[in-house]
Amino acid sequence: MNYDVIIVGAGPGGIYSAYELTKKRPDLKIGVFDAGFPLEKRKCPIDGDKVKSCIKCKTCAIMSGFGGAGAFSDGKYNITNDFGGTLYEYIGKEKALELMRYVDDINVSHGGEGTRMYSTAGSEIKKICMQNRLTLLDASVRHLGTDINYIVLENLYEELSKTVDFHFMTPVSKIAKTDAGYSIEYEGGSAECKNLIVSAGRSGSKWMEQVCKDMGIPTKSNRVDIGVRVELPAVIFSHLTDKLYESKIVYRTSKFEDNVRTFCMNPNGIVVNENTNGIVTVNGHSFEDPDKKTENTNFALLVAKHFSEPFKDSNGYGESIARLSNMLGGGVIVQRFGDLERGRRSNQKRMDENTVRPTLKATPGDLSLVLPKRILDGIVEMIHALDKIAPGTANDDTLLYGVEVKFYNMEVALDENLETNYKGLYFIGDGSGVTHSLSHASASGVYVARRISETL
Ligand SMILES: Cc1cc2nc3c(=O)[nH]c(=O)nc-3n(C[C@H](O)[C@H](O)[C@H](O)COP(=O)(O)OP(=O)(O)OC[C@H]3O[C@@H](n4cnc5c(N)ncnc54)[C@H](O)[C@@H]3O)c2cc1C
Repeated sequence: MNYDVIIVGAGPGGIYSAYELTKKRPDLKIGVFDAGFPLEKRKCPIDGDKVKSCIKCKTCAIMSGFGGAGAFSDGKYNITNDFGGTLYEYIGKEKALELMRYVDDINVSHGGEGTRMYSTAGSEIKKICMQNRLTLLDASVRHLGTDINYIVLENLYEELSKTVDFHFMTPVSKIAKTDAGYSIEYEGGSAECKNLIVSAGRSGSKWMEQVCKDMGIPTKSNRVDIGVRVELPAVIFSHLTDKLYESKIVYRTSKFEDNVRTFCMNPNGIVVNENTNGIVTVNGHSFEDPDKKTENTNFALLVAKHFSEPFKDSNGYGESIARLSNMLGGGVIVQRFGDLERGRRSNQKRMDENTVRPTLKATPGDLSLVLPKRILDGIVEMIHALDKIAPGTANDDTLLYGVEVKFYNMEVALDENLETNYKGLYFIGDGSGVTHSLSHASASGVYVARRISETL
């Protein structure tokens, strides 16, 4: 098989690369290879009944396949340089924003029309945050919701599959330089191309590390974010969520001067299990469909841990903490904030009497046995700070689920074109370490596609 461009990974990075290439250069032959299934066949076997925990499928239906890790996500496309990645460091702030807006236009024209765009601009909440030692980060966010996000992906696939060759259930095992460009190898075959885009996301991070090692592409890795998911009555945060949908707020702790931040806010949403390499962590979703809305809002509170020499395995550190919660709770642990502050575990009786009804079935327990003291102290401090702008946050009945871990991929050494030290070999999206979000990953795909369409 010979292609002009091969894209490894059909997540947002890969999809938007393919999309832009088909628009700018319809003459090019494009092949997309993904380890997972087409969208409609992506089904996680965990049903909470017959299959209660991860059975380690060959490819994870949640993380892999058309749509990548974002397929069942809340579909929040944040248009900002303040978080979600460092794409702007490579391509400039204006360009990065322009590409994120372009991606938003595509989402809107492929099923996202009618969804709301929220913005922090001119927000009174910014001032209230400042007065309480909290910083509200600037952003506009398009909230597609899990349901509309899926429809957008269906529409994009229908359009792309007319001209692009998709190869699902085809994990690429090897990349090699050839005279004419690059070759890829997979079980039972190989393919060649002039330019290669690698957009393997978080699920492909271990494989990408190996590729970089084999090809002598420099990398570095030193960060993991650890914390809890907070769940409380939606009314407590409604003055923020109604206006901004998702507020990214940073608090600098007075004790250690660490930054604690809110992450992935889901108004009227649900808390869900997430499975990373067989370790159960926690995450959150929300839906546009009014019938699926709950009475609760959830968001994560995370603390970033950066490591220095000689320790290199930041993700391993995060996994070990998550494993500890799995060991104690058989999965995710839930604790009432009041119990945490009183230094006692939550038990079923106290959970039954709790006024906030949990949206995830988790084991009542004690998060102080799992989370490092410094991280837990920071989270408790931030909950009290948030209580000043959203009274009720620090109520005894607020629920904390643990642990939530945000793993970061290694950072690949790339130039301003997101090109490696090999000409024509581009690394984009979360797998490159440049992005950690739908909007940045998608924008990096468009950017590289435009570069290729001009140079090939
Ligand atoms: C539950 C959840 C909710 C989220 N919610 C949001 C949100 O609301 N907003 C937001 O901005 N971000 C969110 N994210 C993060 C977002 O999904 C990612 O930032 C984004 O998907 C990254 O896109 P990507 O294309 O770089 O990688 P991915 O989406 O991870 O896609 C990579 C693809 O590469 C494939 N692949 C990997 N290795 C190989 C290989 N060797 N051969 C072939 N294929 C391979 C995988 O199968 C996968 O399909 C969420 C993530 C999760 C898990």
